[in-house]
Amino acid sequence: MSEGEVCSHVKVVVRVRPSNPKERDGNFKKVVRVVDNHMLIFDPKETEVTFFRGQKVGRDVTKRANKDLKFVFDHVFGEDSTQMEVFENTTKGVVDGVLNGYNCTVFAYGATGAGKTHTMLGSSENPGVMYLTMKELFNRMDLIKEEKVFDLAFSYLEVYNEQIRDLLVNSSPLAVREDATKGVVIQGLTLHQMSLIDMAGSGESQVPPTLKGARPPREGANITALLAALANVHQTHSLDPKSKKTHIPYRDSKLTRLLKDSLGGNCRTLMIANVSPSSLSYEDTHNTLKYANRAKEIKSTLKSNVVSVDSHVGQYAVICEKQKAEIMQL
Ligand code: ADP
Ligand code: MG
Repeated sequence: MSEGEVCSHVKVVVRVRPSNPKERDGNFKKVVRVVDNHMLIFDPKETEVTFFRGQKVGRDVTKRANKDLKFVFDHVFGEDSTQMEVFENTTKGVVDGVLNGYNCTVFAYGATGAGKTHTMLGSSENPGVMYLTMKELFNRMDLIKEEKVFDLAFSYLEVYNEQIRDLLVNSSPLAVREDATKGVVIQGLTLHQMSLIDMAGSGESQVPPTLKGARPPREGANITALLAALANVHQTHSLDPKSKKTHIPYRDSKLTRLLKDSLGGNCRTLMIANVSPSSLSYEDTHNTLKYANRAKEIKSTLKSNVVSVDSHVGQYAVICEKQKAEIMQL
């Protein structure tokens, strides 16, 4: 196995939505420039080109902070990107992992109004990655139904203000408990093996101006806990598998608790960060990009995951040899 194949890593993509009427009508400056499929510039320097005695003269126009920050992600989707394009470059690859026995977690992340629900759920005319992923999953299962038997369970839930609600039925908040054999179970919900999550808003800047100084909403705390959990899980896996020194803060929030199975072990994790292109959401976009960038960094610590996977492979080899020896003795 090559290094790239064995390490599970967090894939991070960013989707920039088109300006909404408020942003367009107010003539707000765009603060995100998509350079190509992998790079964007946040708050790019603007160069105003003027002519002086026939000579081109350029100068920087400092309208805002002009951070001119370059970010590189696994994929960057511009304002014109279609749902199909997002699906093909994100969850389509995850389906393979699911069919090969991996846990997969896909979560949309970003401020309110940045395009999370549009990306994940979409509409009946323009379905999002959840629908496209399920369709792909069923198509693929249909193709290999002769060779494999699949056990498929779905659940659709929302985590909001530390409460879990079943979105398929109108229920009161559900409890999370841990089952010795089934792992993390939400009472009243079917066991989930794939998670597709539409998160509530990110970061502190969604606090309305009137609440400045107040605690950020729980969702802001959730994503922080989730990223911390992701980082911890992956760091733990890069350590000696026998070492139990690192504390994994699964219990820190409902979201991290219920994602425990998805985040640990053989999991593929994909983060879709959604941002507005407009200066109207300057701080939100900046925060989202910073978080997404942090999540991306988790990938590099995962390289050493190879060590623990190799040790597992080693264990299997020992078991196989033992069984072979037993058979020979018969
Ligand atoms: P969030 O779930 O992050 O709060 P929404 O997905 O509800 O945000 O998006 C806010 C609005 O912007 C919605 O009206 C949605 O249809 C629109 N929107 C978001 N992303 C896109 C996109 N990529 N293309 C077109 N419209 C979009
Ligand atoms: Mg939403």
